[in-house]
Amino acid sequence: MAVPITLPNPELTAAGRAYREQLVREGGSIVVKKTKAGTLCRRFRPWLAGLSPKARGRVADLIFSAFTSCRSLKETAKDLKTIRGGCEGTAYRIARREIRRLQHERDFLQFRERGIRQGIWRIDLEEGVHTGRSGKLFAIDDPIWTELDLEGCICWCEPVVTDL
Ligand SMILES: [Zn+2]
Repeated sequence: MAVPITLPNPELTAAGRAYREQLVREGGSIVVKKTKAGTLCRRFRPWLAGLSPKARGRVADLIFSAFTSCRSLKETAKDLKTIRGGCEGTAYRIARREIRRLQHERDFLQFRERGIRQGIWRIDLEEGVHTGRSGKLFAIDDPIWTELDLEGCICWCEPVVTDL
């Protein structure tokens, strides 16, 4: 029997609040990138630099609304383009990246709370970033999962639930 779970709203977590504050105050967020040498680094990217704090707050609302409403990624991207300008493709890429990183924070927090120790790397057939990692087992605390935050990654972690 599946245990009913409650998903924490990222906006109400400390990490979510810090994320919102950085968006509004600094006009951007920390983005995970892979260097040519294959190491991961986190860099601040000012993707809302040209906007007023009020408009930045609206973008934060938009990103968080993906968790509290049924708004799709496509709709979110469209609204982001309206506020931020730029092309549709960029808005879509940014919206996906930002929603995914908050989703990962929420999911892994929940995995730990539920005592889950391992996860299986799941990969979509069209994904090109992590080909070859499909079906492999990693500890939930393995830093390898940070790579789910890479732009273009659409993989996910399937938690391994063991009955106690
Ligand atoms: Zn991937």
